[in-house]
Amino acid sequence: MLIFKHKNKLQDYFKIEGRHNTKIGFVPTMGSLHEGHLQLIRESTKICELTVCSIFVNPTQFNKKNDFTSYPRDIEKDIKVLRNSTKCDVLYIPETVDLYEKGEKINQYNFNGLEKLMEGIYRPNHFNGVATVLEKFFDIIRPDVAFFGQKDLQQLQIVKRLVSILDMQIKVVGVPTKRDRDGIAMSSRNSLLNNKQREEALKLYASLQYCKLNRKDTVEDLKSHIISTFEKNPMINLDYIEFVDLETLSPIEEIPITKKSAICIAAYVGDVRLIDNIIL
Ligand code: AMP
Repeated sequence: MLIFKHKNKLQDYFKIEGRHNTKIGFVPTMGSLHEGHLQLIRESTKICELTVCSIFVNPTQFNKKNDFTSYPRDIEKDIKVLRNSTKCDVLYIPETVDLYEKGEKINQYNFNGLEKLMEGIYRPNHFNGVATVLEKFFDIIRPDVAFFGQKDLQQLQIVKRLVSILDMQIKVVGVPTKRDRDGIAMSSRNSLLNNKQREEALKLYASLQYCKLNRKDTVEDLKSHIISTFEKNPMINLDYIEFVDLETLSPIEEIPITKKSAICIAAYVGDVRLIDNIIL
């Protein structure tokens, strides 16, 4: 696996090697890699001839300074994991100065309202930060296929929209959420939880499953049940539980039989903000 720290060197590599008809797969990550990330990379190495992974904790997508500084980082371990457990060909690990000019403002996008729901309400400008850095990555790497986790469902739908706004020929592939054996969605942030918090965090997935199991009840009843359950739990601070159409992510009042939908949840467990969803 080749490692690049500078975009110029990475672009030189593409120039020298030539792109020919090589199908390039791209997996952007913020590192502290776990099996969920590796799943994305494996999907890429399965269907692409060259897989590029990036590790970059993008400062412009964080709303809270503390969340950015405390975000788990372990680049040496990540490199070992990529080398030992995947067939990743290229790793790009830029510093902020390689991607952003000093004082550069992030772009403002119109994602047809997708950015105004759920995460968009609780993390203003988050998706503009995500899209700004992805636009830069797409420009540098020019992948044919880009892989994103369904765990970040809203991000996945926004990236599909971004690619169409940019009019780039990139296929966006969504990869199912990888869970630990007990059901918790794998996340780099899980390492910030203590044992008790991790046990509590399981309740997010449990509540999604409860809703799925009781899908004959009304959405309103299911939502109030979950909200009132978490209100009684001092360890969990619920931001939202939403029932949405899978494509538009707009809220639904009934779970449709013929169309796909999703239940999305976001909550703080202690200081750690976790999100999860289940697709119906
Ligand atoms: P992150 O490093 O959190 O920015 O995530 C990088 C990519 O990995 C994103 O496309 C995420 O949606 C995806 N991802 C994170 N956790 C999981 C998971 N548990 N299962 C599948 N994909 C994931």
